[in-house]
Amino acid sequence: MKERLLTNTEPIDVFHYFEDLTFIPRESGNEKEVSDYLVNFAKEHGLEYKQDEWYNVLIRKEATPGYEDHPGVIVQAHMDMVCEKNGDVEHDFAKDPIVFEVEEDRVIAKNTTLGADDGIGVSFGLALLADDSIKHPAIEFVCTSDEERGLQGIENFDFTQLKGDYVINVDSDDEGVVVVGCAGGPVVKVNVPIRKVPADHKKEYYAIKITGLRGGHSGEDIHRGRANANKLLIRVLRALEENVRFDLSDITGGLKYNAIPRNAEAVIGIEKEDKAAVDAVIERFSGIFADEYRVNDPGITLEAVPQETADHILDEASSRRVLDYIDFTETGIIRRDQDYPQFVESSVSLGTISIKNDSAEIWIMTRSSKESQHRAMFQRIISLTKAYDGIYEVMSDCPAWEFDSESQLKKKFEDVFRELYGKDPSFMILHAGLEPCEFAVKVDRKLDMISLGPDIRDLHAPGEYVVISSTQRVWECFKRLIESL
Ligand SMILES: [Zn+2]
Repeated sequence: MKERLLTNTEPIDVFHYFEDLTFIPRESGNEKEVSDYLVNFAKEHGLEYKQDEWYNVLIRKEATPGYEDHPGVIVQAHMDMVCEKNGDVEHDFAKDPIVFEVEEDRVIAKNTTLGADDGIGVSFGLALLADDSIKHPAIEFVCTSDEERGLQGIENFDFTQLKGDYVINVDSDDEGVVVVGCAGGPVVKVNVPIRKVPADHKKEYYAIKITGLRGGHSGEDIHRGRANANKLLIRVLRALEENVRFDLSDITGGLKYNAIPRNAEAVIGIEKEDKAAVDAVIERFSGIFADEYRVNDPGITLEAVPQETADHILDEASSRRVLDYIDFTETGIIRRDQDYPQFVESSVSLGTISIKNDSAEIWIMTRSSKESQHRAMFQRIISLTKAYDGIYEVMSDCPAWEFDSESQLKKKFEDVFRELYGKDPSFMILHAGLEPCEFAVKVDRKLDMISLGPDIRDLHAPGEYVVISSTQRVWECFKRLIESL
């Protein structure tokens, strides 16, 4: 039996519940046990609760006397965690407790993920509900399931039962930065029609390969100036077109629609005598990419690898359509935020390309914290797709949480923070999805929202840790914020 290590760690209640959670398996999709734990908590504390079929749990606590007519507060966290471990470690996330250590100011799981994302948020919610000394308006604690695989739990949550006007999401990982808005946007799958014809076996075939890019999250890393392999490839092919007549046999790029593509390749067929011209283009662009990305993406490799042969090629019209479509699709930063220009407001990422039987399939992800921009980007994708006789399908569409410069909750947080620390807090607009996005569209009255949390590092990876002193400070801030509402 694993022994308890956090019994005396302040804030006592927060770490008590956090430690409880480390005993409960809670990988995304396996939330019944943790959901039942929350239900038992509510029962033990005599609190009204509702568990839905997705294992989301809502727990209510009535306002403290004197706070009955204040607007209610919704506190929100997710119960599931990302389960990653080091390769050489025996650990079964379906039954084994998370093994962690207390190392100076950190609670750290060295060989697995810790689940501080978002076990700390859940613990804040429970500690708040359990503590009768904190004065508060009516509380609704919304603890969702299956967040990490794409906000599945909250998408199925019944928002009509909520009464509160403030939302405090406790799923941020940087004490110094409070989130006040985040990006939404559709993931669009486009199919541009193609026709394949038999390949000319007298030609020589080469795979033009781009590898070695840094990649990253297509939202959170979009401002880092890294290359998009699909876009590099198209530049090389365009330059080839000017010098060489080639047949396009295949084109692929990227592995996940929500990541910046790290590699791409096109298989082309050429006449033997054109090989020197191809080599010259490869050499020229190797130099161009090395120069253009020498700081942000210095490992780019471009090469032409000989292939046995090819079965099919795209006919000329199809080849042009596909190359044009890829070339003319926007990618990268479209606009920066007006209030906070250090943050990206709108971006597009041309994620993946692959050739199917009768079409080229291209996945594009747009993100924007401004609904009108997100519509505009989407409209441009549709127009381009129509221009090339393609069809599009919206695979998922996360709404934006727009920043509200009039936010009372943000002002109250600033007051509490200044009073505690004598300085101003920082705010950010996250260029990725977060659960408050769902609140923003699914509740038909205007909600006032922020997202906060203590310092958690190496999230989603073995070695994840939460900083104890940071948890103390954020908990203090959180309590005072609740009392100020
Ligand atoms: Zn999280």
